[in-house]
Amino acid sequence: MKTPEHLTEWQHAVERTRSKSPSSFEQWFAGVQLESIEPGLVRLACKDAFVRDWVSAHFLPELRHHLEPVLGEHRVEWTIRSVLERPVCTPAERRPSAAPPPPDPTAQRAGARRAREERPARLRGLANLNAKFTFANFVVGPSNQLAYAAARASAGGGGARYNPLFLCGGTGLGKTHLMQSIAHQVLADRPGARVVYVSAEDFTIEFIQALQDKKMDEFRARYRAGCDVLLVDDIQFLAGREQTQEEFFHTFNALRDADKPIVVSSDKYPQQLQRMPERLVSRFGSGLVADVQVPQLETRVAILRKYAERERIELTDDVAVLIAQSVQSNVRELEGAIIRLAAKASLTGQSIATEFARSEIARVSSRSATVISVGDIQRVVCSHFRLSNAELLSKDRHKSVAFARQVAMYLCRQRLKSSFPELGRAFGNRDHTTVMSAVRKVEQLAETDPEVKAHLDELERKLSASEG
Ligand code: ADP
Ligand code: MG
Repeated sequence: MKTPEHLTEWQHAVERTRSKSPSSFEQWFAGVQLESIEPGLVRLACKDAFVRDWVSAHFLPELRHHLEPVLGEHRVEWTIRSVLERPVCTPAERRPSAAPPPPDPTAQRAGARRAREERPARLRGLANLNAKFTFANFVVGPSNQLAYAAARASAGGGGARYNPLFLCGGTGLGKTHLMQSIAHQVLADRPGARVVYVSAEDFTIEFIQALQDKKMDEFRARYRAGCDVLLVDDIQFLAGREQTQEEFFHTFNALRDADKPIVVSSDKYPQQLQRMPERLVSRFGSGLVADVQVPQLETRVAILRKYAERERIELTDDVAVLIAQSVQSNVRELEGAIIRLAAKASLTGQSIATEFARSEIARVSSRSATVISVGDIQRVVCSHFRLSNAELLSKDRHKSVAFARQVAMYLCRQRLKSSFPELGRAFGNRDHTTVMSAVRKVEQLAETDPEVKAHLDELERKLSASEG
């Protein structure tokens, strides 16, 4: 049966296999689950035969190679199950993979032992960097220019230009990629630098562990005196965790007083963070707040090209544009789309030619509609409230016009996950704070006012119909 020892070996083998091609691995292993592992036999479950065949052909040889020394000659048995409770990878929030272990086998074994003895691999400082998340692999466009430039400045040796740098924006838009690029860059420029990249979740786990083990001195040494650059990902995770917030607050102050760069990422703007004390919020906003937005078509195409080049997927311009047109919401999905397409094409022995891509995309996008735009939403809202587009975008503050405008902003935010500045621009060049308060207001009204709720339901219905 599953002994903890074999589970560790399994995780180790998974990490090593994943590190070769993280995006593709994570995409596929979101549909795979470990059932049991013992000498001679590994049982896996998966969602369907398609996943099973692809994983067997592309990942199992390597995975089994890593398991061989532990399990000996072993078989892999598959079961197909519609629901997987514990998939190997979670599709929504993918963890950055461990960096590949050093090539020397003794060092590898020692490293593995150390990792087992000390703490889980994902808590080990820089082992959690994804080798592909570098500035060189990051495509810069209008949607992320500021964030990119600010990240580069933070990585530069000449003291922190903006401290802290607060990177924010929707999921899958490159925040983690940028943060880890900073880490890679600092380490390349100054190999002795002590860079700590940690998710707020891992920071919390480590903090609690340190409290329990009475090792707060060590914890503080790691994050304060022993840290030259601190990168904390997904800070929204600290919401409501008062003790961790308190500890983080002191960490933050200590580093900033010492003029050490701090970079924080979040899925929200500082002022929008909920259950976060005001003193932290104001500190987050005290340096530079740079958002990443949904990339425009040209940038999406460039990202696809770069990705295909890296993963050696043949991709024609036609197909790149086709994919970029159909997947608009975020870069993670963009990568998912090309991986799936390449996988399917190679399984069925076809190339990703335009016709094949078109039919596949049509099939997928009939299920998940991502093709609606800000303009579409504005049109639907105008016709619903019998306003002209000019009125909607005007400075008119009459209650009914203002309400329609707020509703339109809210729907854009909900559906398109557009950033607040972007929406501000799309709504007659308004300030992003105006959009933020509009969205918040409609959110509240949707819960308290049945009439507003009815409008929203009706609009949702119309939008879905127009997506058809
Ligand atoms: P976030 O942390 O904002 O949720 P990630 O940084 O994890 O998003 O990005 C999701 C995926 O998209 C990653 O594989 C990342 O490499 C890729 N990605 C995002 N933005 C870009 C970009 N501008 N250029 C290249 N790849 C990108
Ligand atoms: Mg992230």
